[in-house]
Amino acid sequence: MDTFSPEQREKILESIRTIPDFPKPGIQFKDITTLLNNPDAFKTLMEHLEERYRDRQIDYVAGIDARGFIFGSVLADRLGIGFVPVRKKGKLPSTTVAEKYALEYGFDEVEIHIDAFGDPNACRETPARVLLVDDLLATGGTASAAARLIDKVGADCVEACFILELGFLNGREKMEVPVYSVIEL
Ligand code: AMP
Repeated sequence: MDTFSPEQREKILESIRTIPDFPKPGIQFKDITTLLNNPDAFKTLMEHLEERYRDRQIDYVAGIDARGFIFGSVLADRLGIGFVPVRKKGKLPSTTVAEKYALEYGFDEVEIHIDAFGDPNACRETPARVLLVDDLLATGGTASAAARLIDKVGADCVEACFILELGFLNGREKMEVPVYSVIEL
């Protein structure tokens, strides 16, 4: 049962600060470092996520470079399952699969190890069930590319989970998998 209360949600929201005009003018940057160094808020958040996903038969948590690594790996440890990094291009050392996504101007690219969820050519009765995690859903470009990567290497992205969602950017509509955000702004 999910016992996450409005007070707990408020505690998490209050622990995140907004930095105006970072990294460029006009962007209201949601800084989660103040959540990470607030042990009460961080614990409340991780307990909520553990509770939400404990009985969902998740095999792996995949986290998006770089803040998704923090929340994703703590959650994977709490669930007793493996963690897989989805990285910016050129960072992973073994054989990778890549996916491009559009930015305001130009493209960016994310990568995953081809064998991140086991041998992609092996005959599995059912694909590995993967939870995708990042700190924030904005336009959805990064997370939708990451979800496609999970699919490309033969696993099943069962949900994408975010601490914050900037609802006015409609990133959710770009996602082809179910989306859960702890706090929608
Ligand atoms: P998008 O691909 O537009 O959904 O952007 C999501 C990625 O960019 C996430 O990895 C976020 O960490 C980062 N991001 C985008 N907008 C913000 C923001 N306003 N504050 C903090 N991080 C952001």
